[in-house]
Amino acid sequence: MLKSPQTLLKNVFGYDEFRPLQQEIIDRTLSGNDSFVLMPTGGGKSMCFQIPALCFDGITLVVSPLISLMKDQVQALQSNGVKADFFNSSISPQEESNVIERATKGEIQLLYLSPEKLIAVSNTWLKKLNIKLVAIDEAHCVSMWGHDFRPEYTQLKVFRNSLPDVPFMALTATADKSARTDIEEQLGLKKSKLFISSFDRKNLSIEVRGQVPKKKKLQEIGQFVGQKENESGIIYCLSRKNTEEVADYLKADGHSVAFYHAGMNPEERERVQTEFIHDNTKIIVATIAFGMGIDKSNVRWVIHYNLPKNLEGYYQEIGRAGRDGLPSETRLYYNMRDFVLYSQFADDGANPTMQKDKLSRMLQFAEAKSCRRKILLSYFGEHLTKDCGNCDVCDNPPKDFDGTLLAQKALSGIARMREKEGITMLINVLRGSNNAEVHAAGYFQLKTYGVGAEVSFFNWRDYIVQLANQGLIEIMYSEGSALKISPIGWKVLKGEETIKLTLPVSAKEKNKREPRSMKMAAEEKVNADLFTELKKLRYSISQKKKLPAYIIFNDKSLKAMASDLPGTENEFLAISGVGMNKMEQYGTKFMEVIKRFKT
Ligand code: ADP
Ligand code: ZN
Repeated sequence: MLKSPQTLLKNVFGYDEFRPLQQEIIDRTLSGNDSFVLMPTGGGKSMCFQIPALCFDGITLVVSPLISLMKDQVQALQSNGVKADFFNSSISPQEESNVIERATKGEIQLLYLSPEKLIAVSNTWLKKLNIKLVAIDEAHCVSMWGHDFRPEYTQLKVFRNSLPDVPFMALTATADKSARTDIEEQLGLKKSKLFISSFDRKNLSIEVRGQVPKKKKLQEIGQFVGQKENESGIIYCLSRKNTEEVADYLKADGHSVAFYHAGMNPEERERVQTEFIHDNTKIIVATIAFGMGIDKSNVRWVIHYNLPKNLEGYYQEIGRAGRDGLPSETRLYYNMRDFVLYSQFADDGANPTMQKDKLSRMLQFAEAKSCRRKILLSYFGEHLTKDCGNCDVCDNPPKDFDGTLLAQKALSGIARMREKEGITMLINVLRGSNNAEVHAAGYFQLKTYGVGAEVSFFNWRDYIVQLANQGLIEIMYSEGSALKISPIGWKVLKGEETIKLTLPVSAKEKNKREPRSMKMAAEEKVNADLFTELKKLRYSISQKKKLPAYIIFNDKSLKAMASDLPGTENEFLAISGVGMNKMEQYGTKFMEVIKRFKT
């Protein structure tokens, strides 16, 4: 071994310290053992095999199903002076033989392969290589329990068994307990150790805005992106039609924007994606199909135009923002209409009960009145002890009061209607409405008829959702959304327990509130002009070199330059993300610009 992991981290990648678990994983790999790495998107998984690859005197193979991502990762490594390459169906026969020749001569340290290519060549030239480590990225693809099963992955076990003494590393961002065991088994990992890092992405702010009418929603989004000139972002929509509408709206407003959906042909999609990666298009309005294969670290914001189908998808999608660790914003818009629509889709799809269950968890999250990050992480099995201070609920904590009496009124209404009715009927009965359906069912004779007339329809709806969120009521989506009383609900109804409710914020008031982004924009004005100049320089270099801009330097490094104003080589090297290679290639140019701003 030539250099220590710590030295490589600084000299090659320009970083000062390892993130939690990286060092342990690297040490374990260097001592020849298998590992299972579970970290969120952007958590820093790649470093766990890249550093060992540089320590070993031989080649490291990286298996990944995402072909577009491979090129990106290889470019990033090469720009740091690492001998990396890839081998997949996108390269020509000449390029293939070139890669094979260099790999055989020991001129490649990291070789990325698609699983099918790996299997295809595992008994030919690959056999002659001095393989020191094999990393299996997106390892959840081997499990049928996962959401992204790839049959090619199942053949990896044979490969693993053919290299009994080489350490293997499985990496993924999504795998629950049952999937984890399955993955270890399917890949034939040996006595592997599981490393799970926190899934909390503190740099992502979370905001939810409910029941905003379409026109207003578009206006708000227009305003939002208006404050984010020259920053990249993604807007996720439910339908193809929506993506085109929203993109047209923003384009008419003069923004650099394109849409992306599965109805476009592959070349067109590839083009849109590349333009985004190269910062030529700032905003992408897409269906969920966008983002899987990209590793753009300077996505500064993500907006959901509709309610996502489940919290897994939502978390993965907002996770595409802020991979470089800088503060990034996420905003979710939702409507009851999205919810109803998805429930119907779920009915027609596979496993409708599970899907609806996930959907209602998603809605509960959107309607929640307590720290959103706490709810989100607890869904993924991680429990925060403090509120996050970086979500809309933490910003405007709701006021609570003793809601026992109101709860009892609602619960008794549900009981008297024999748990057969949904939310609208319940509210109509509580408010003593005269409508035909109430009459037809004879509910005006109930004792609870009209007992809640003083509370508005809007507020009742809010309280009932709170009761559901607190687990007093269950909404039976499988029975026409009938409301049922849970065991705790019965306790409250009998007066054995009390509960708290929070005052609803009226839609009007909510819409008047300043969105989070405006506050942030006011705070962040430090060296903005220099930052802009540095970005321009980065852009011109990236155009010349035909590389994505963030591969030259990520936003975080440029920000650090704009605030620390390095003037010497040593000062420049101290910037996070500047390794030796980048210092030599770009140091002078960037310091020239910085010098102009020094007074
Ligand atoms: P993942 O594969 O888990 O989604 P990446 O490996 O792409 O995440 O890492 C995300 C970003 O974090 C990359 O830009 C990477 O360079 C950076 N990174 C990784 N480790 C460190 C570290 N120890 N210090 C600073 N940045 C790091
Ligand atoms: Zn919070």
